Amino acid sequence: MNDFRRFVAGAICPNCKKKDTIALSADDKRIFCVSCDFEEYKSE
Ligand SMILES: [Zn+2]
Repeated sequence: MNDFRRFVAGAICPNCKKKDTIALSADDKRIFCVSCDFEEYKSE
C-alpha cells in the first residue's frame, strides 16, 4: 500500500474535536485531520 498514513493515537483534532482523526503525512512534516480540513506543520 502506498497510501501511508500514520495515525496519532489518542490525538484530538483542535478544529472538529474528534478523536483519533489526526494522522501524520507520509513525509512526516505535517499533521492533518481526516475528518475536517485541519492541517498543520509540525513544530521542530
Ligand atoms: Zn478535524
